[in-house]
Amino acid sequence: MTRQRALILNIMQESPKHLTADEIFALARQRMPGIARGTVYRNLKLMEQAHEIAKLEMSDGADRFDKTPTPHGHLYCDGCGSLQDIPVIGLVREIEDAIGTEVRSYQLTIHYLCPACRKEQAQ
Ligand SMILES: [Zn+2]
Ligand SMILES: [Zn+2]
Repeated sequence: MTRQRALILNIMQESPKHLTADEIFALARQRMPGIARGTVYRNLKLMEQAHEIAKLEMSDGADRFDKTPTPHGHLYCDGCGSLQDIPVIGLVREIEDAIGTEVRSYQLTIHYLCPACRKEQAQ
């Protein structure tokens, strides 16, 4: 693994967020000032192909990168765009029961208003 790739993985693991490539690049440059944008993008692509990370295509903006490559659902706030992981294995099991076969893959995003946005709306 190259130093650049280790740095990117480290940045993703330290962040509680699902970062965009530009956000990862900005954080990487703080720690490795010489790093090029193309290097970050290329490494993200390689890491995605190796299933070390997952890419999330967002309907409303830049793709985000997920440090958890195993299947899980997401909670998306329509107010501020924050994205959180949510376990949905129980739901997937119910769907498997209903369809009588195994779910092979899924992408599940649940839209809601996060507590901070709900609070702001209530004021
Ligand atoms: Zn919000
Ligand atoms: Zn996630």
